[in-house]
Amino acid sequence: MKRRDLIKYLSVAPLAGGLSGVPFNTAQAGTKALAKRDLIKELGLRTFINAYGVYTTHTASLMPDEVMAAIQAASKKYVLYNDLQDKVGEKIAAMCHSEAAMVTSGCWSALVLGTAGILTGMDKAKVALLPDVSGFERNEVILQKTHSGSYDHALTNTGIKRVFVETVEEMEAAINSKTAMTWFYNEADPWGKIGHQQWLALSKKHKIPAMIDIAADVPPVENLWKFNDMGYDVVCVSGGKAIRGPQSAGILMGRKEIIAAARLSAPPGGGNIGRGMKVNKEEIFGMYAALDRFVNLDHGKEWQIWEDRANVILNAVTKVNGVKAEIFVPPIANITPTLRISWDQSLIKLTPREMSLNLRNGEPSIEAPKSINDAMILSVWMMQPGDEKIVAKRFTEELMKARV
Ligand SMILES: *Cc1c(COP(=O)(O)O)cnc(C)c1O
Repeated sequence: MKRRDLIKYLSVAPLAGGLSGVPFNTAQAGTKALAKRDLIKELGLRTFINAYGVYTTHTASLMPDEVMAAIQAASKKYVLYNDLQDKVGEKIAAMCHSEAAMVTSGCWSALVLGTAGILTGMDKAKVALLPDVSGFERNEVILQKTHSGSYDHALTNTGIKRVFVETVEEMEAAINSKTAMTWFYNEADPWGKIGHQQWLALSKKHKIPAMIDIAADVPPVENLWKFNDMGYDVVCVSGGKAIRGPQSAGILMGRKEIIAAARLSAPPGGGNIGRGMKVNKEEIFGMYAALDRFVNLDHGKEWQIWEDRANVILNAVTKVNGVKAEIFVPPIANITPTLRISWDQSLIKLTPREMSLNLRNGEPSIEAPKSINDAMILSVWMMQPGDEKIVAKRFTEELMKARV
């Protein structure tokens, strides 16, 4: 359309505002109406106090204002996708002591893309072949049996074969010319016969790249760089758990050539296994803002806040006769002050399971379902300020009601 024709067209087009850069009237009206609407109410959804912790089913964590501001600002501008990954990747790498980094769609896709990068290198023909790795020289990944069962499934998306070992001898025997990578699942460290340091040393001895999944292993914040400093070639972490970035974001970090290769299997390119693992630009900005905030937090103060919350609940519930409570810190994954509450069920006729259901069905709803037979485990770190008082009150009410 010529400029003269365009002007003529605009003067008669009913939605001309859209073409001249002014938002459509309909869109403006929609935005205003949305601000007044309560979508949670409109959709009939139940919200709750999160005494459960960081779980995908419970929509993980809440994004802080700084993160939402980054997302909001990002939504107003275009940038080139690869430029954004380059720049944010540099910043993340500097914060986490890795050579390079990229934002992925969750830790899961970091696991897939990191593995893909190791398998293909910069060979685009290989990228196009995944997940058919039958013709690849190296297409096996070694892991400990005790580390299998859930997230190692991500690795199989690339087509690799998992080789399970238990002892050092088995690992050394399993390494051969088909071994592409070794994989360590940090949360399972206490259950395996080979610890993360020895695992890395063995991988290095045989010159096999080692990947570690530390998805839920911050705090402590130092874990973000500990495994990079130690020499793991690839480190994968969730963005929407403790770091409180977008729930669908994660970070893949590690050696420069592996990250560069991993990006060949990821958006914006197509014809690869990662095309469906897109992270939008808002999430990439949000991930960066969240990580920056998290790394610079006063973690001692955070810990104190969590401990104070746990104590508010502990002090309230232990006033009820027959109730015992303690604060403990899980040895690995979700390392935060956590409550274990139990009671004499001959004095208080309520099972932990009934308690969690009553809390769920109460007002306001509280999700605290990590109940085992004789105790309830309550997590306080994903609560909002003041929630602990409500939980203390509701928990105590339910205990009192059930007294015989
Ligand atoms: C949560 C989790 C994942 C998956 O992470 P997402 O960020 O949800 O994709 C992988 N590994 C472990 C150990 C996890 O806890």
